[in-house]
Amino acid sequence: MSVWWAERAWLGDRLAEHVRIEATGGYFTAITPGARPAGAELLPGITLPGLANVHSHAFHRALRGRTHGARGSFWTWRAQMYRVADALDPDSYFALAVAVYGEMALAGITAVGEFHYLHHAQGGVRYADPNAMGAALVAAAAEAGIRITLLDTCYLAAGFGEPLSGAQIRFSDGDAESWAARQRGQGPPHARWGAAIHSVRAVPADQLATVVAAAGTAPLHVHLSEQRAENAACLAAHACTPSELLAGHGVLGAATTAIHATHLTEADIGLLGSSGTGVCLCPTTEWDLADGIAPAGPLSDAGTPLSVGSDGHAVIDLFAEARGVELGERVRTERRGRFSAAELLTAATVTGHRAIGWPDAGSIEVGAVADLVTVATDTVRLAGAVNIESVLFAATAADVREVVCGGRRVVRGGHHELLGDVPRLLSESSQFAMD
Ligand SMILES: [Zn+2]
Repeated sequence: MSVWWAERAWLGDRLAEHVRIEATGGYFTAITPGARPAGAELLPGITLPGLANVHSHAFHRALRGRTHGARGSFWTWRAQMYRVADALDPDSYFALAVAVYGEMALAGITAVGEFHYLHHAQGGVRYADPNAMGAALVAAAAEAGIRITLLDTCYLAAGFGEPLSGAQIRFSDGDAESWAARQRGQGPPHARWGAAIHSVRAVPADQLATVVAAAGTAPLHVHLSEQRAENAACLAAHACTPSELLAGHGVLGAATTAIHATHLTEADIGLLGSSGTGVCLCPTTEWDLADGIAPAGPLSDAGTPLSVGSDGHAVIDLFAEARGVELGERVRTERRGRFSAAELLTAATVTGHRAIGWPDAGSIEVGAVADLVTVATDTVRLAGAVNIESVLFAATAADVREVVCGGRRVVRGGHHELLGDVPRLLSESSQFAMD
C-alpha cells in the first residue's frame, strides 16, 4: 500500500485541505481528511487528478520551433510535417516518443491518446511486424511511465477521390478491411486500443462503416472540420458537411470523439450534441495553425462532452489547452466566464480519460486509477494560490512538481524518476529533423 498526504487536493467538487490518500494495486483505496500520518509521502501544493492528453501525434514534437517563424497556412505546415514523418523508423520513433511522453509526464499527463497513422515503411512497405511503429509507441509510453491509448488510424486517401502520394503512402493499409485485419486489440496493462478515421478526406465514405464495425465499443476518434477547405471539398463531393457525412455512416455516438470541430454549422452542432459525440479541442495547435476557434460553448450546450489535447505539440501544457477553451470562447463571443475552472479541469481529467477509454481514471476517489498531479504553490506564477482558478488560469506545465501514475511515482520534485534528463532525450531524438 502507498500513502500520500496532500496539502490540498481536488476531490471533484471542492479543494480539500490536508487529505490522506491511499492506494493499493494502482487504485485508490481510501481518501480521508486529517493530519499527516507517519510514513506518508508529502505532496506540497495543490494536488489534482491525472491529466489526459486526448490528442497527440508524437512525431510532431520534432517540428517545434522549426515551423513557427514562417508565413503560410495549415497546408504549408503540413508539407514540413510530412518531411519529418518520412525520416522515422521504429527505433528512431521509439526514442523520440520516449522523450515526448517523458515531457508529457513532467507536465502532469498520465494518459495519452496517440492518433497514430505512421504505420508502414517508406513506399508503404510493411515492416516484418506490420504493427512495429504502433508497438514502438506503446513501449515508449511504458518507458516514460504513462498510459497510452493507441488510436490506430485508418488513412487511405489524400482527398475526395485523390490517391496518396509521397510520405502519405506510409500511412495507408490500402483499404479499410486491410486496416481492420492488421489490428491486434488490447495491449499490455498500461495500453488500451482504439480506432481512428483520419478525416472524411482520408477515408472514402463507403469504407467508414468498416472502421466503425472494427472499433466496436472502443474509442473512435476523427479529425473534423479543422479547415474550411475540408468542408468545401466535402460539400463538393457529397453535397453535405463532414459532420453530416459522419452521421449518415454511423460514425457519431458516445464512444466517438471529434478532434477540433472548428468550422461547424448549427445543424452540425446539433448532430454532435444529440448523438453524445465528444469533441477534443486543441487550442494551442488551432491557434498555431491558424485554424480558427471552435464553438465550444454551443457544443457544450448541445450536450457534447469536451476534452483537450496538445496535438501538434507546439507546447505540451494541458493548463494552456484547458484555459484556451475558455479564452477562445471569450474572444469568439466577447463575453467572459462561459466555463468555470472546475469545468475546464473536468475536461482535462474525467472527460479526457473517458474519451480515450479510461473511464476508471481522472478523479481522486476510491476505486479510481491512482493518478496524482501536484502543482507547486511556491513558484512565481502560483505563489499564494489557494484555489483551482489560480491553477487553471495561471499555471504552466513547469509548475507540475510531483506525478504519480497508477500508484507509481513518476515525477519527484520536478524530476522524471524513470528517464532522468528528459531535455537531453528530446534534443538527441529530434536531431534528425534539424536539416
Ligand atoms: Zn491531429
